[in-house]
Amino acid sequence: MNENIATEATELDNLMLIIKSFLEHMEYTLGKDKYTATKYDAFNALAYAVRDKLVERWLDTQQAYYNSDNKRIYYLSMEFLMGRALGNSLINLGILDDFREAMTSLGYDFEELFEEEQDAGLGNGGLGRLAACFLDSMATMSIPAYGYGIRYEYGIFRQKIVDGAQMELPDNWLRYRNPWELDRQEHLHPVKFYGRVITTVNKQGNVVKEWVDTEDVMAMAYDTPIPGYQNNTVNTMRLWSAKSSRDFDLKFFNEGNYIRAVEKKMQTETISKVLYPADNVIEGKELRFKQEYFLASATIHDVLYRFKKKHTDLKLLPEKVAIQLNDTHPALAIPELMRVLLDLENMEWDDAWKVTKKTFAYTNHTILPEALEQWPVWFFEQILPRHLQIVFDINTRFMEEVKERFPGDSDRLSRMSIVEEHWERKIRMAHLAIVGSHSVNGVAALHTEIIKNQLFRDFYEMYPERFNNKTNGITQRRWLKMANPPLADLISEYIGTGWTTDLYELEKLRAATKDPEFVPRWQAVKRANKERLAAYILKHNCIEVNVDSMFDCQVKRIHEYKRQLLNVLHVITMYNRIKENPAGEFVPRTFIFGGKAAPAYFTAKLIIRLINAVGSVVNNDPDVGDRMKVVFLANYSVSLAEDIFPASDLSEQISTAGTEASGTGNMKFALNGALTIGTLDGANIEIMEEVGKENIFIFGLTAAEVNNLRKKGYNPRDYYNRQPELKKTLDMIAGGFFTPNAPDLFRPIVDILLNQGDYYMLLADYASYVACQEEVSKVYLDQDEWARRAILNTAGMGKFSSDRTIAEYAREIWGISPMNITPGAGSRQPGETF
Ligand SMILES: *Cc1c(COP(=O)(O)O)cnc(C)c1O
Repeated sequence: MNENIATEATELDNLMLIIKSFLEHMEYTLGKDKYTATKYDAFNALAYAVRDKLVERWLDTQQAYYNSDNKRIYYLSMEFLMGRALGNSLINLGILDDFREAMTSLGYDFEELFEEEQDAGLGNGGLGRLAACFLDSMATMSIPAYGYGIRYEYGIFRQKIVDGAQMELPDNWLRYRNPWELDRQEHLHPVKFYGRVITTVNKQGNVVKEWVDTEDVMAMAYDTPIPGYQNNTVNTMRLWSAKSSRDFDLKFFNEGNYIRAVEKKMQTETISKVLYPADNVIEGKELRFKQEYFLASATIHDVLYRFKKKHTDLKLLPEKVAIQLNDTHPALAIPELMRVLLDLENMEWDDAWKVTKKTFAYTNHTILPEALEQWPVWFFEQILPRHLQIVFDINTRFMEEVKERFPGDSDRLSRMSIVEEHWERKIRMAHLAIVGSHSVNGVAALHTEIIKNQLFRDFYEMYPERFNNKTNGITQRRWLKMANPPLADLISEYIGTGWTTDLYELEKLRAATKDPEFVPRWQAVKRANKERLAAYILKHNCIEVNVDSMFDCQVKRIHEYKRQLLNVLHVITMYNRIKENPAGEFVPRTFIFGGKAAPAYFTAKLIIRLINAVGSVVNNDPDVGDRMKVVFLANYSVSLAEDIFPASDLSEQISTAGTEASGTGNMKFALNGALTIGTLDGANIEIMEEVGKENIFIFGLTAAEVNNLRKKGYNPRDYYNRQPELKKTLDMIAGGFFTPNAPDLFRPIVDILLNQGDYYMLLADYASYVACQEEVSKVYLDQDEWARRAILNTAGMGKFSSDRTIAEYAREIWGISPMNITPGAGSRQPGETF
């Protein structure tokens, strides 16, 4: 009895403390009272109250890392697509229910406040979201890890659909304050650009290279706490922001032209202004190159600064530091580390090179040639003259090594060279990353085979031990527990909560397929989620969708290789079938599309217009009724994704085999109980292995068949001429059926397919895709069978937790083991001062 009263009293205390913290932040941090506080203020005061909870554990974690001197992992990425932090922080800290109770008692609609938060959209798509999932997993596994990136003032643009076309609006996310970050004025590194290199001989008679007359930009750190799942660990994501240097200020302001001086100052700060909005394609712009070096240089200096607090011998660096390069974007860190070791630390080349190779590891994310970074030598030389010398020196030595291994093979030399010598000389960043790392990994089994046997074949022959696979994963804390509470709760009720940190626990759900109580509850959860999404669609698109229809979803960046267009061909085919047989039986579908097109990608933007044009015909045709709707959801982002996955029945993963490195959207769908229709591409293959061939819909050419058909000679017109339904569909698009007022609008799309070789082989896969969709519809008619397969999909997702991926990186690449964080190492204890 007494004990109960005591517990109740602490719970009340706890509630009062939360309320007090919230009210104090509202009053003292935000300066608002009951007359002026907006809902957005309430979100901010709440976020500050939650941040206070993060900070103690954060200080403890960081001090524990310092004391232990364990090896650290630095995850370098130009993108971190974090989304919102509030719900995730509350869940990971295990304080969601307490805060809900406190806020509800103050009269707030708790879930409504979540909607006030801006997404942190510092990424384009899969690559940036992977980095975010990895941070969550590393913190959850108590791995001493840091994410390093750029604090873009403008993240990925906000997409609006105006008259069916994409419009881009700036994402000025910091204008609304960012309650999660802490600025670290003291962590300031100068980053040099331009200038020239002078060669001198020092007193010891050694040749010394000096990089002089540079233009310097300061990199200032902003830290964001990354909480692990209920484990006391809080890691750091450190993002760099560009500030003009004091020297710079003095020099220009002393010239007397005040306005010109301010202009100059603003120019240097443009480096961290905006994220490049292109996914899977490079933009060879000077500003982008500068951003990449800005991240690389500031981070290397920070890493060495931290290392030197405990150590003096830089030869020990690889024992204490692992650096993972998220694609080649941060690969200038390799010549930057070499420069520091050679020029500033006076290390011998061979020692510096050994240290560098042992420290770096490189992850390849794509084999699309247009996405492989190559920087023209002429501007590399202007902007980073000393680094270019070092890259040439690396290459000279590397070419000697190749000659020794493969004498007389000059073709191989030019294929492997870091310097592409044709026409315009260019630096091949992937070659630099491979040569400068001890590990090169692909992101799914098939992708790794392709990089070993095709893309980087020569390198695999030379360094087979460097190549390895790390199949991507996603964090179940965000993508199931947070995004889909009703499903998460149902699962926990049935198998316990172990799945939150061990996703293989989901295997236990297999038994649930035979439980006559469980299946209807599963179906009810899906239906409730679909109703919520239907309400969203009604509100944002003014389209009323049939909640009993199959929600057939394709959400991801718009790209030809991802083949949204193949999906559209099926949509039109189904429309034509209804029109030809209006009284026929059709399994109703809601086709849901979402995704951004790079602003300069003409074809991708035209595909968005086509989807919307088809939608406006189909959705308004009385013959169709509620058997079919086509919806394009604007501004696909992490927070929109969190609403879509839980409500989806069918996941479209239909890239041309061999083009999608892994995909992670495929995993989020399946985890939330959607069935997949897909090609044997990327991680789809491994999903099939885990859920069973009979529980996934596979169609189309294999990667090997795609290669063979290309070699043999592929003629898309053969398919067009032989398949009347396909011909009709393409003729409608080309003939202006969907845009009578602009009949030629979509001609370029059909042109690509019929006259420009259909590189992604949509026509070759069309028949197989449509047939497979018929099978999908047939299965959907049996709702219990569909639910059974859906449960088995969720049950088979254990492998696709990013915890598993990170465990593999840690063990096989980084040589890092998890740590336990004991409270009290760094945070202020009662009675302590500073
Ligand atoms: C997961 C995710 C992606 C990646 O999706 P893919 O289908 O793997 O291309 C892109 N954008 C967002 C917002 C995501 O959450």
